[in-house]
Amino acid sequence: MKFLLLYNPVSGRAQFKRHLNDIVKRFEADGLNLDVYESKAPKDLQNQASLEAKNYDVFLVGGGDGTVNEVINGIMKTKSRPRLGILPSGTANDIAAILGIPRNVKKALEMFFHEQPVLMDINQMNDRYFVYTAAAGILTRVSYDIPRRRLKKYGYLAYVFEGMKDLLHDYRFPLTITYNENKIENEYMLALGMSSNRVGGMHLANFSSSKLNDGLFEFRLFQRRRFFRTFRLLSFFLRRGKRLKEDEHLVASRFDIKTSPDVSWNADGELSDHGDIVIEVFKEEIPVYASPKVKKKYF
Ligand SMILES: [Mg+2]
Repeated sequence: MKFLLLYNPVSGRAQFKRHLNDIVKRFEADGLNLDVYESKAPKDLQNQASLEAKNYDVFLVGGGDGTVNEVINGIMKTKSRPRLGILPSGTANDIAAILGIPRNVKKALEMFFHEQPVLMDINQMNDRYFVYTAAAGILTRVSYDIPRRRLKKYGYLAYVFEGMKDLLHDYRFPLTITYNENKIENEYMLALGMSSNRVGGMHLANFSSSKLNDGLFEFRLFQRRRFFRTFRLLSFFLRRGKRLKEDEHLVASRFDIKTSPDVSWNADGELSDHGDIVIEVFKEEIPVYASPKVKKKYF
């Protein structure tokens, strides 16, 4: 087995570099070969993943959700499908949490050595791939509106403050969604799409009972109401994603969405596109390492 570690040295507050020695030693102890590549610039890991996908059996990815998203986009541009082992070290590590990967690097490595990988769905929004969330509207710009400096200083709290500021804006945008031969049309303040029950560090147990390999993606649509807007959103999060009667919940393997050109779409916490989008699910596309508990519950 050939392993390549792709890591982002500027992810999160903690330096991934300080784990490097331990990781290399752990591989040496087993007589396994590990190559290491450090990202030099944004999208560097995406290119590297594309170039190297055919040369390795396993990609280890050190970073947060943005780093994982880059590597996935690189892999999907090729025909090769190396296994993915995520070593969470970003500010936002939703993907690693969804897969039940320990924050402790040594424990995560042991999991990769002892567990069999499982095939996970990958989603596409226009020409970008993403793993777990696609959204537009209130709260969804928060992750990329925060200056890097503030994120470094306050970490996760920076998201919370930015989110509170965003609640004051009046979001309202039209969506026409075609899915499973249905069509709905309305004005919304938030379209929240997820392939699991986790977003923004929150576990929304009541969002759905979806699997990570069912070939389906899910949207919760929040209609715009002038009053009780903040209250309704809070209630959604406090009730862990429970559906309120005025909200719509859509499940499909493909969504055609028309909207105004200025609407920005977030995918895996990054700004991904504007205006009209098509979302498509590729069932069981990439082998990933996950905890035994997650494999049982979400696959
Ligand atoms: Mg699914």
